[in-house]
Amino acid sequence: MTKIIAIANQKGGVGKTTTSVNLSAGLATIGKKVLLIDTDPQGNATSGVGVNKSEIEQSIYDVLIDELPLEEIIHKTGIEHLCIAPTTIALAGAEIELVSTISREARLKNAIKKVQNDFDYIIIDCPPSLGLLTLNALTAADAVIIPVQCEFYALEGLSQLLSTISLVQKHLNEDLLIDGVLLTMFDVRTNLSTQVAEEVKKFFEEQVYETIIPRSVRLSEAPSHGESILQYDPKSKGAEVYLQFAKEVAQHG
Ligand code: ADP
Ligand code: MG
Repeated sequence: MTKIIAIANQKGGVGKTTTSVNLSAGLATIGKKVLLIDTDPQGNATSGVGVNKSEIEQSIYDVLIDELPLEEIIHKTGIEHLCIAPTTIALAGAEIELVSTISREARLKNAIKKVQNDFDYIIIDCPPSLGLLTLNALTAADAVIIPVQCEFYALEGLSQLLSTISLVQKHLNEDLLIDGVLLTMFDVRTNLSTQVAEEVKKFFEEQVYETIIPRSVRLSEAPSHGESILQYDPKSKGAEVYLQFAKEVAQHG
């Protein structure tokens, strides 16, 4: 069975893309066949796995708007078992163009159907908004992972995300589950990180993953080399925890 996971939080800079790339790389490293789908027009997941955006002719934009088969845009990456469905900035226009299309929330779900048997995991990196691109991801997904940054106002906006998820469950995808909440950019040197982690655990209880992602310079450097942390610095703490996180996600079945 293929598991489709959306990485969502409408707040920017909470670690969605870093988690999408490195969770995908981690799952591929433990032998799973993984497709990473980039639905953020910024395309950071696309470049984060080494795909040069300026060389892409067709992207997830063409899949969503012109119903181009998803398989036609799938590229291999430098990691065995990891493929990417890339995006370009053209996708920024899709949010508006989708409004007037038929089955506008289900376009990604329908596109995935034809390729999903080729993969064990499909990871969808969402943009920082709750617009039609994120709705497409949540409609296509079996589960959602919510990264939460260990910073001031961590919980702010989460109630809006949770109510969007329940609306999707009610109207578009009744099988959608919250796989878990991932604490990111945890800084061991600050009390603030510990306080935020406790607050998030009080709110989400056992939905919070055991794995916590620390703040690490190596994790923020890797994307500029077009590499996941598992390629860029496989011995680093960041590589160790994202691999551990991939195992935790895989255990969820
Ligand atoms: P989002 O996709 O939610 O906007 P990103 O994954 O792009 O968030 O992360 C935002 C910024 O923080 C990026 O510059 C990224 O490299 C950096 N970053 C993400 N996770 C970590 C981490 N654990 N430690 C240090 N920097 C991180
Ligand atoms: Mg991002």
